[in-house]
Amino acid sequence: MRKKIVAGNWKMNMTLDDGLAFAESIEKYYKDKPSPAAEVIICTPFIHLAGVAVLLKNGKVKFGAQNCASEASGAYTGEVSAAMIKSTGAQYVIIGHSERRTYYHEDDSLLNCKTRLALDNGLKVIFCCGEIKEEREALKHHEVVRKQLHEGLFSLSADEIKNIVIAYEPVWAIGTGLTATPDQAQEMHNFIRKLTEEKYGSNVADDLTILYGGSCKPSNAAEIFSKPDVDGGLIGGASLKLEDFTAIVEAV
Ligand code: PEP
Repeated sequence: MRKKIVAGNWKMNMTLDDGLAFAESIEKYYKDKPSPAAEVIICTPFIHLAGVAVLLKNGKVKFGAQNCASEASGAYTGEVSAAMIKSTGAQYVIIGHSERRTYYHEDDSLLNCKTRLALDNGLKVIFCCGEIKEEREALKHHEVVRKQLHEGLFSLSADEIKNIVIAYEPVWAIGTGLTATPDQAQEMHNFIRKLTEEKYGSNVADDLTILYGGSCKPSNAAEIFSKPDVDGGLIGGASLKLEDFTAIVEAV
């Protein structure tokens, strides 16, 4: 059975104090409860990682970063390497979020370098893909996602791909209040699983966790997650409120 995951993407929100207090509230929420059906991950800004590592000590909630450098180390002012992220105790890193692709012009070949460095340093990668509104309207969404996966990910070996989680995030649904319908999500997730099967075979494809992201909230999560190829969610805005985030986890 493949793993179900709900990952929160805090984006550029919360000061150090606010972030640590929030992480502590998540830790407390799960402390005396049975382990949730989904793995719970919070992806915080870099500055929170080392502090969050101390707070999430019982291991029920995992944590990670939202980006990493495309170089291993050295004279790259302002960058944070995969090795540095790993050294905090983080288990995950998000790579290829549409905000990185759009605002920081990260292309598939750069994302492939980041992914390799993350894996080489023992991190698991949540690799994001998804089309913009115009591409869906022009019926190019499959072509776009196929290219993102082939160029960003599919040079990895079958062993490496086991440490990848794919997040399908239609860009037109991120932070917009628009959500893909459960059928649209299922259709694309199934397409992604088939692409993975063509490249790596059915065992790898069956075990691949594919998350949906894009205005997922307590009121729509259960319906989206009920689809057979949707294995959980990558949650932006709704991951910033304890009751919303935990309700989404419970929807799995
Ligand atoms: C995201 O940033 O990955 C995301 C899905 O955001 P939101 O849930 O706010 O649409």
